[in-house]
Amino acid sequence: MSEDAERDAGERLRKIIHVDMDAFYASVEQRDNPELRGRPLAVGGSEARGVVAAASYEARAFGVHSAMPSITAKRKCPDLIFVPPRFDVYRAVSQEIREIFAEYTPLIEPLSLDEAYLDVTENLKGMEIATDIASQIRAAIKAATGLNASAGISYNKFLAKMASDLNKPNGQAVITPKNGPAFVENLPVKKFHGVGPATAEKMHRLGIETGADLKQRSLDFLIDHFGKAGPYFHGIARGIDNRQVRPDRVRKSVGAEDTFRQDAFDYELARQGVQPLIEKVWSYCETNSVSAKTVTLKVKYADFNQITRSRSATAPLASLDALEQIVSQLLLAIFPTAKGIRLLGVTLSSLERASARASTQLTLF
Ligand SMILES: [Mg+2]
Repeated sequence: MSEDAERDAGERLRKIIHVDMDAFYASVEQRDNPELRGRPLAVGGSEARGVVAAASYEARAFGVHSAMPSITAKRKCPDLIFVPPRFDVYRAVSQEIREIFAEYTPLIEPLSLDEAYLDVTENLKGMEIATDIASQIRAAIKAATGLNASAGISYNKFLAKMASDLNKPNGQAVITPKNGPAFVENLPVKKFHGVGPATAEKMHRLGIETGADLKQRSLDFLIDHFGKAGPYFHGIARGIDNRQVRPDRVRKSVGAEDTFRQDAFDYELARQGVQPLIEKVWSYCETNSVSAKTVTLKVKYADFNQITRSRSATAPLASLDALEQIVSQLLLAIFPTAKGIRLLGVTLSSLERASARASTQLTLF
């Protein structure tokens, strides 16, 4: 869409819902294993190594959160239970949720397995009130999966995303065009979606602490200091965000990595460790109907030195087997190793829509 068309579309008042599952991975584990219910739980990591991928609300009460080193998490919460992630299950639940969304609108933009933006301005049920749609969707998710979702309803993506946090867990909130600008003014900028810790720190140095502070800075000032993000910050400071919900959004790459419990010195151990990563990135491709041409293996050694090794194919990888072969070859080439391997990662890039590949085949045969 051209910038003009995007701006025109943005001027029409839209109804956007941001749906966000509550403590998704941890809630799925508690759903499937009654012994874990009501207990502090970390998905991913282990007692000794790695990082927490997701924490249950019981664990969050102790200050445990995702991306926290496991060792820190265990110190904060000595009773913390670590369970390995089951991405195949999370993906299947995610698919169920997306099917529910699709009953309401084709304009679905997933952000991850557990979050999506929906544009329900024109919806398939002909419903007027977006908060009613959000309630129905959350009830349908609960009925289908047993899991709680929260939702934010607003007139753009930024505010819908901010709103979904307001009554979490298992709640929803609406930010109307009338109260949007005031909501933003009162919000600390470090809580803004799109302002990470580094940007928040930079804003702090510039004396920008709240939305109201941000609103006082000119567009030129914001472009000077934040480059391409300047216009976005200028807009959201006023509660304006004209980004469309893009159902066809395709990521350019997908990666997974994992830290070993003990440094790996031999190929067999490393190959075992890399298998879940291969399966994870391949499943992403299958779930999202994309395929990749480039495979990159990342190796971090015990001394934290890091290397990457890549291979590109002329055509998108056609099978899990093909991916396994390439990763095995890349991995084998780094052995023997004098230094222990601390972490391995697999990234697929040059992603393409798999449907394009299928149609090529149709014309060929
Ligand atoms: Mg979530």
